[in-house]
Amino acid sequence: MIEFKNVSKVYEDGTEAVKDFTLKVRRGETLTLIGPSGCGKTTTMKLINRLIEPTSGTIYINDKNIKDYNIHQLRWNIGYVLQQIALFPHLTIEENISIVPEMKKWNKKEILKRNDELLEMVGLDPSIYKNRMPNELSGGQQQRIGVIRALAADPDIILMDEPFSALDPISREQLQNDIQKLQKEIKKTIVFVTHDMDEALKLGDRVCLMKEGRIVQLDQPKQLIMNP
Ligand code: ADP
Ligand code: ADP
Repeated sequence: MIEFKNVSKVYEDGTEAVKDFTLKVRRGETLTLIGPSGCGKTTTMKLINRLIEPTSGTIYINDKNIKDYNIHQLRWNIGYVLQQIALFPHLTIEENISIVPEMKKWNKKEILKRNDELLEMVGLDPSIYKNRMPNELSGGQQQRIGVIRALAADPDIILMDEPFSALDPISREQLQNDIQKLQKEIKKTIVFVTHDMDEALKLGDRVCLMKEGRIVQLDQPKQLIMNP
């Protein structure tokens, strides 16, 4: 589904953020990327989304070089959830969720119906929440909206970059449970960045341990626990 072949990224100031990175993420798999701050996790995510270009090597999605995709098509097919909650403050929750589906010119009725389903999926009653403004929701609720907004246009790939790190432990656990539910229900290909090992083991079908831009270990959680 997503394949990195000998990918390196050197930033303009000479920082080697990702070094000779080779990795396959399978369709329907959740891969967690874990490692200390600065090890190249965010850079890896930005490369998938073509927010930045590799210095060398190639990235494929469905066996096609990502450079050969139309950039909008590529991004529409990838949901991106960031650590910083990035809802548009002047749009209602419903409007926030509808942005990409509307750009895709989906049927308005279909969009509204799907919005309700998505809100219910993360435990928010649509009749209460869809007309609220983002600042009328708690941090955890806003982050839930961030997650379902990334799902709204039904992308094949979802990238999550430390989506829960700003949350209190209870919201965090609830959202982890939401993600697990999603994994079962929708079987998306998910790349999930975290620096919390418990979270990486809980959510990952496989865990990719990074250090200084390289893969140190890549294995299923059980194997990783046995060979720390
Ligand atoms: P993380 O939470 O992933 O550790 P950082 O706090 O290291 O993130 O970085 C936050 C943002 O700043 C990232 O988007 C990263 O790309 C950018 N950034 C980090 N280091 C530099 C740098 N030396 N020069 C420019 N941008 C940087
Ligand atoms: P992580 O997400 O694991 O914290 P990043 O991918 O954000 O790591 O950063 C990897 C390395 O690249 C770090 O040394 C960081 O300072 C550096 N870096 C990130 N973004 C930039 C940038 N825009 N310019 C220069 N260096 C950067």
